[in-house]
Order: sequence, then C-alpha cells, then structure tokens
Amino acid sequence: MKPFKYLSPTTVEEAISFYGQHSETAKYVAGGTDVIVKVKEGWIEPDFLISLKKITELSDLHKNEATGELSIGAAVTHATLEKSLMIRNEYPIIYDAVSNIGSLQIRNVGTIGGNLINAVPSADGAIPMIALDGVVLLHGPDGERSCAVKDLFVSPYKTILKPGEILKKITIPPQRPHTGSAYIKFGRRAAMELPLIGIGVLLTVEDDLETCTKARICLGVAAPTPMRAFEAEKLLVGKKINEDILRQAGETAADESKVRDSVRGKAWHRKEMIRVQVRRMGLACMEIIWNNN
Ligand SMILES: Cc1cc2nc3c(=O)[nH]c(=O)nc-3n(C[C@H](O)[C@H](O)[C@H](O)COP(=O)(O)OP(=O)(O)OC[C@H]3O[C@@H](n4cnc5c(N)ncnc54)[C@H](O)[C@@H]3O)c2cc1C
Repeated sequence: MKPFKYLSPTTVEEAISFYGQHSETAKYVAGGTDVIVKVKEGWIEPDFLISLKKITELSDLHKNEATGELSIGAAVTHATLEKSLMIRNEYPIIYDAVSNIGSLQIRNVGTIGGNLINAVPSADGAIPMIALDGVVLLHGPDGERSCAVKDLFVSPYKTILKPGEILKKITIPPQRPHTGSAYIKFGRRAAMELPLIGIGVLLTVEDDLETCTKARICLGVAAPTPMRAFEAEKLLVGKKINEDILRQAGETAADESKVRDSVRGKAWHRKEMIRVQVRRMGLACMEIIWNNN
C-alpha cells in the first residue's frame, strides 16, 4: 500500500481548502469502508486522505418538529440511524435499509454520505433517500448547491459531484399523514451480502386509508444507478390499494427495470423478485398505515 498523509479538518471550509491545495492527489474519506479497501488493493493511490469525521456539523441528525423536515448529516453512520427510535418509528424504510448493511462493524463506521457518493447500483442507503424525496446539499469551492437524491447518480461509481465538493446533508421533506414505507434487501444470504435486488416502496393514502395519493417505487441493482419505477408509481396513484393493483405495479416495475445478469444472479431472477417484492413491500406499507390508525 502506498503511504499517504491523513488530514483531519474540523470545518467544511477547511476540508475544501485542503482539497484545493492537493486536488490532483487528494481523496475525502468518511468511514473509510470503501476508500480504505480501494487504497489497500491499490485501486487508488491518493497522497492525501482528507477525513470528514471531525467536522461536527456532518454528524448532525435531527428532525425539525415545527416543519417536520428531517436532516441527516452526511457523516451520520448507519449504526446511528439504525439505533434512532425516531428513524425506526417514523422512517421504517431507512431503518429497513441501513440495519442490513454489511456487519455491525461496517455499520458502526460506514456513513450514509459515503454510501451515496460511492454510487454503486447496490447502495442500500440510496433507495430510502430517493423514496423519501430526499435532497442533498453539496458544498464546494464554488459554494453550495442542492439536488434531489434521485438526480445525484450518473453511472456506477459516478455522481454529479464536482472536484472538491462535499456532501453536507440529506434533507427529507415532511411526510404526509397515512404514509407507510418499507425496504427489502433481497439476496442469497441475510448478512454480509450485497443485494441481488433492493426494493423500496412508499405509499400515502387518503383518510379512507385506501386511495393512493402518492407512490414511490425505487429499485436498486435494477439499472446502472438506483432508479424509480415511474410507470408503476403512476399506476397506483388515484387507485384503491389492494393486492391486485400491487401485483400489477410489481409487473410494471419489473418491465421498467433494466436488470442484467451478474455474478450475484440472473436477470430473470431479479425481474421475478421485483414482481414479487414490490407487491410485498406495498402490502407492508399498508400494514404500517393501518396499524398507525
Ligand atoms: C465488508 C463490507 C460490506 C459492505 N456491505 C454493504 C451493504 O450491505 N450495503 C451497502 O450499500 N454497502 C455495503 N458496503 C459498502 C460501504 O460500507 C458503504 O457504502 C458505506 O456506507 C460507505 O460509507 P463510508 O463512510 O465508509 O465511505 P468512505 O469509504 O469513507 O467513502 C466512500 C466514497 O464517498 C466519498 N465520500 C464520503 N463521504 C463524503 C462526503 N460527505 N462528501 C463527499 N464525498 C464523500 C469518498 O471520497 C469515497 O469516494 C460494504 C463494505 C464492506 C467493506
């Protein structure tokens, strides 16, 4: 492994300035569960690793009770999200996704920001952030800008981030009443496994607890980047949710996916699992809605 210098800034501005001084050979690192593996394997050879761990604002997790907006700092670890009762009770789709990432050791250091910026098609953390209409705040040498999480990904391992930009936080808008959400990481093993397919569903219904006003169907490992199944979502809005319509949504989502064969599984298996699991996750959403009323 090539030696590198480890820099530990305490503010975002300082981190960006360090990056500016060494831009050709610097790399940001949060939990390091992706970066350190790549350095050890010799896939990347940075001269400077700029740690984001001491920048306290990046580890902030709070919900503004007045506005209902949830703010998740980029360096919040998966374990912090997993242990938060507020996340577990109010954002089950986040809990479902992060509590199955890697192992306890990985979740203790791996961060939600690192998961998004690493930008692999199987990033478990990306699906709930898309389903919840999350917005990322980026800060770089040219100042701040925002974008929807769904628009963050360009291709495997590539996001819209410009050199030197830091992901500061993800903001989740207030959820409407009668909303349920669920995620399943479907793989061959329960632990230490990247998903064969990852499926997140969010449904909001009217006061009748049946008629759908909002649907999000988000798929991981179904395309080069995490994706929304827009046609399947459209099919549900305005309809009364029942098993039959959820089955149709599953079939539509499977048709919309761009699954392919990989070492972890065949395209046909992935398609079949989308069909089945969209329906199951939709039912899980409805169960949450009914239980909360
Ligand atoms: C054994 C093992 C099992 C794993 N299992 C899973 C799994 O089940 N599901 C899953 O989704 N992932 C899994 N991963 C991948 C990894 O743990 C996650 O993607 C993790 O969330 C990455 O976060 P990190 O803080 O460690 O990222 P780092 O390694 O620190 O960084 C990852 C990338 O993001 C950049 N970066 C980090 N933070 C910022 C920021 N705030 N602003 C700008 N750039 C930033 C870094 O420069 C780097 O390019 C696994 C990894 C290992 C080693």
